[in-house]
Amino acid sequence: MTVPTIALNDGTTIPQLGFGVFKVDPEQAERIVTDALEAGYRHIDTAAIYGNEIGVGKAIEKSGIPRDELYVTTKLWNADQGTQSAFDAIDLSLEKLGLDRVNLYLIHWPVPSRDLYLESWLALEQIRESGKAVSIGVSNFQIEHLEKIIAGSSTVPAVNQIELHPAFSQAPLRAFGRLNNIATEAWGPLGQGKYDLFDLAPIAEAAAAHGKTPAQVVLRWHLQTGNIVFPKSNSPERIAENFDVFDFELSNAEMTAIDGLDEGKRVGGHPDEVS
Ligand code: NAD
Repeated sequence: MTVPTIALNDGTTIPQLGFGVFKVDPEQAERIVTDALEAGYRHIDTAAIYGNEIGVGKAIEKSGIPRDELYVTTKLWNADQGTQSAFDAIDLSLEKLGLDRVNLYLIHWPVPSRDLYLESWLALEQIRESGKAVSIGVSNFQIEHLEKIIAGSSTVPAVNQIELHPAFSQAPLRAFGRLNNIATEAWGPLGQGKYDLFDLAPIAEAAAAHGKTPAQVVLRWHLQTGNIVFPKSNSPERIAENFDVFDFELSNAEMTAIDGLDEGKRVGGHPDEVS
């Protein structure tokens, strides 16, 4: 199965569907990422703070998959914002991953109370120039944070990775991204299992109509919306299920009905508050 790609503003492309490893136990990360690679995923989303970069790297190495067929993202943790600390953090992440470069390096949260995100962004520009990251982007940035780094640097972030699922569909940030050529990545695409997403009528009805599971319908909604998405699961069955979303298409009416589920409901922290 060839996963569609999204073109980024720096001339590279990213597989639209990947595998996320937030809360994947470091001891199990190698096994779980191996399952994902065997299921066909070629895009892995990790972060320094997840503590599982070593396991991710081992799975990549043992897979024997050529490096240029894999897309690996990691993230600069909040405590490491700054110039030298960002340089040190990417080196440590690469060492743990066993790689000489990541495809995408993100500032994990803006942490406006520390006001170091523009300085960190300038450091990420240098990290990209050094070749240690092919592309650079941000995560959990609000419009004001994006405006500040766009005005204060010569690089528009390739992506903004934000909480996004049917009850929190982030229309204003997605529209800002479209206008400024910033691709939107959806974290918590299944609502992190924190609300009863799968029984909502537009999702349950589309699942029945297409003979797919509610999780597959939600992932299909993301893909047809244009989001980059990397659901997480520890189970081989669900890992395979979440990848099996390219043999059906939601109708315009089904898409509109799922769009109608937005209620501005976050399941995670607010970007102005997470430190
Ligand atoms: P998610 O929405 O992918 O939910 C994961 C949970 O959904 C699983 O633990 C499981 O309980 C359930 N699930 C998965 N597949 C299922 C299926 N087929 N059927 C039923 N239930 C299923 O949440 P997430 O892991 O938080 O988000 C995905 C990825 O996004 C993360 O792994 C991580 O890579 C990234 N992320 C980034 C940030 C950030 O601040 N940048 C924050 C959270 C997550």
